[in-house]
Amino acid sequence: MSTALPVVPLPREGGCADVPILKERGQREVFCGLTGIVWLHRRLQDAFFLVVGSRTCAHLIQSAAGVMIFAEPRFGTAILTDRDLAGMADANEELDRVCTTLLARRPEIRTLFLVGSCPSEVIKLDLGKAAERLNARLLPQVRVLNYSGSGIETTFTQGEDNALKCMVPVLPATDARELMVVGCVADVVEDQFVRLFDALGVGPVRFFPARRASDLPAVGPNTRLLLAQPFNGETVRALQARGAQVLSAPYPFGAEGTTQWLAAAAAEWNVNAETFRQVTAPLQARAERGLARYRDRLAGKRLFFMPDSQLEIPLARFLHRELGMTLTEVGTPYLDRTMVAAELPLLPATTVLSEGQDVEKQLDRVHAAQPDLVVCGLGLANPLERDGHTTKWSIELVFTPIHGYDQAADLAEIFARPLERRERLAV
Ligand code: SF4
Repeated sequence: MSTALPVVPLPREGGCADVPILKERGQREVFCGLTGIVWLHRRLQDAFFLVVGSRTCAHLIQSAAGVMIFAEPRFGTAILTDRDLAGMADANEELDRVCTTLLARRPEIRTLFLVGSCPSEVIKLDLGKAAERLNARLLPQVRVLNYSGSGIETTFTQGEDNALKCMVPVLPATDARELMVVGCVADVVEDQFVRLFDALGVGPVRFFPARRASDLPAVGPNTRLLLAQPFNGETVRALQARGAQVLSAPYPFGAEGTTQWLAAAAAEWNVNAETFRQVTAPLQARAERGLARYRDRLAGKRLFFMPDSQLEIPLARFLHRELGMTLTEVGTPYLDRTMVAAELPLLPATTVLSEGQDVEKQLDRVHAAQPDLVVCGLGLANPLERDGHTTKWSIELVFTPIHGYDQAADLAEIFARPLERRERLAV
């Protein structure tokens, strides 16, 4: 007989679940959803992302990706020229021609994502129809999917949400009892979690997205979803519409977050409490030792999150609870309460939570609060540094492996590094 894992209530500080939110609608300073291609193309090794956009779009992903060291990167841009934009050329014909040439040159591609942009939206190029047309010719060797990464419709991490959501209709159906981890994680993180779920006896476990876009996890009424990224709300709702149920948990950031995240799956799979302790306690202890090195440096430091990646709320919880940082303001571009239901009660009730952005007003609040560290997008970092603030680019948080026990100290280091740099400059 096994004893089901008791659900251990987390110590709360009053919580932020019911506090009023400052809602702002004004000028925003956030990347568009094309940015997601930079981490998605690394994860999905048999996919290609073809942005149907302008030279601006091509420059954005190229500079966001930095210097590409791959001989053949798995993304590109089909540039819409002035003739296309003026409606003088048949952009559909041109797109089909580009796709055919690309697939002939890159026969290893199994999934081709056509990614919409502001220009393709403006000229009303129907990428859904284009995908249908190409699939009729190319399936089953290559599947063509489409989503929008346009700055009119998406910010930064919503690109991943849109990419995953467009895959949901093609996931096979199942009645099997399986765990699905939803959200892009680094391969090394997947390997660590697979070992942990194996040791706990939780499974079968599938990751969505998997390393190959063509390796599609099945979904159905007995699928349980464990969320790895807080910004995939639309994808989660599409999976729920196919019967899957979410296991509510904080995100696996830090030692505490990771333990609670694993506990949610363990409780669902009736894992024995002793087994859970034996598997997780040594790893949790090691992660806590790693964090202790940073706690001295970060405790009491005042932190301001500009709204950018939607990772702000889980990271604020981690930085406050495990490293003792003080939260000045936690901004998020969208507050999707269902996605952060287990996080909000863990923030101090005094936290100023803001949703959306009116950038000038928010910068005024930064200047008034004089926080020790501002987490923000690339566009705001330089002006803030010029004004004497210490900043951390939030984009690093989606490029770096930050989930799980083994990455907890690395995650703390991301926030400690700019403070140390500032201190060294001040000497
Ligand atoms: S999709 Fe729009 S916002 Fe994004 S780079 Fe292209 S033009 Fe700019």
